[in-house]
Amino acid sequence: MAGNIPKSERETGVILGFLEEAEAWQLLSAQFPSKVGGKPAWLSQQNLPTLPEIECEKCQTPLVFLLQVYAPLVGYERSFHRTLYVFCCKTPACYTRNDSRCFKVYRSQLRRENEFYSFNPPPDEKPADPGDEHRILSTGVKLCYLCGCPGQKACSRCHLVTYCSKEHQVIDWKQRHKKECCDEAASVASEILNSFVFPERELVTEPEKLPVKHEELCASNSSEQVNYTSDLEEKELESMAFHETRDSKVFLKFKKCIATEPHQVLRYCREGSPLWLSSEHVPIKAEVPKCPCGAERTFEFQIMPQLLNHLKVDRKDASIDWGTLVIYTCTDSCDQGNKYSPEFIWKQDFSEDRVL
Ligand SMILES: [Zn+2]
Ligand SMILES: [Zn+2]
Ligand SMILES: [Zn+2]
Ligand SMILES: [Zn+2]
Repeated sequence: MAGNIPKSERETGVILGFLEEAEAWQLLSAQFPSKVGGKPAWLSQQNLPTLPEIECEKCQTPLVFLLQVYAPLVGYERSFHRTLYVFCCKTPACYTRNDSRCFKVYRSQLRRENEFYSFNPPPDEKPADPGDEHRILSTGVKLCYLCGCPGQKACSRCHLVTYCSKEHQVIDWKQRHKKECCDEAASVASEILNSFVFPERELVTEPEKLPVKHEELCASNSSEQVNYTSDLEEKELESMAFHETRDSKVFLKFKKCIATEPHQVLRYCREGSPLWLSSEHVPIKAEVPKCPCGAERTFEFQIMPQLLNHLKVDRKDASIDWGTLVIYTCTDSCDQGNKYSPEFIWKQDFSEDRVL
């Protein structure tokens, strides 16, 4: 028997991401996880992004970890291990329409032979001593007890926990640390849930398969796909009537494309095209800045609105919200001396009158 894909279905070249429960050790750095929520599992244990780099450009408070995608590039020694990190602001008022300033993306990559991890793949079992990498890294870098980003400021009473900022120390004091600070029975600590970070889940992937009828509609390289707006299209957009129809077409296509797998939270297709949900606010080429190395940036993955359901953020009025978040990365995946390199994110919201 030939492959198990029915003749009526075909792979689109897009990898879909779904959420699944996992054990805590499976989401630690040494397992090279893709995940949503919790604290970041840092790939490189050095030169982590710190404040003010991981601060919201709108409200200047520290961003919180949203998700990470492990995405090595085959054929490049420098990116044998490669992880992309997305951070977002927790202030609802920062989520204004089609505005990406309350997000940041970083890329970390390592050679197969590196100073932090074994040359061979990690054993698929719980390590005897998983350590406490969310509080201090193997390199001695101290992390914020609340958010897991670099934090050097220690609690002045117990000196046992550190924070990235005054803001996070205050939040954690009220939520948790007041009850455990200088408490002999320090076991209380791990029992009080950190409700500041988003609920943690593994991101598992599988190739998108669509009925052949739909395939043409959704293929990532289809010429029908709205990618960069061309000059010609720009002219056509001047007609409002035309614009309306075009926007409905894009939205209809979006809905059809995700209908087969309605729980997808992520679509990955490096050098493919994003699935836009509106014809409004699609970047022209010049709006995606080049990497500091000089290379162009290319589409790599997008975060879907379905992820908001899992984050349990209130969507009734002003809240953390997006239509889709589109991530563009350096085409060269350049090596910037073991640093976490900033990449580019574009937020597109639904047209005023449309909801999923
Ligand atoms: Zn903000
Ligand atoms: Zn923090
Ligand atoms: Zn303390
Ligand atoms: Zn670059």
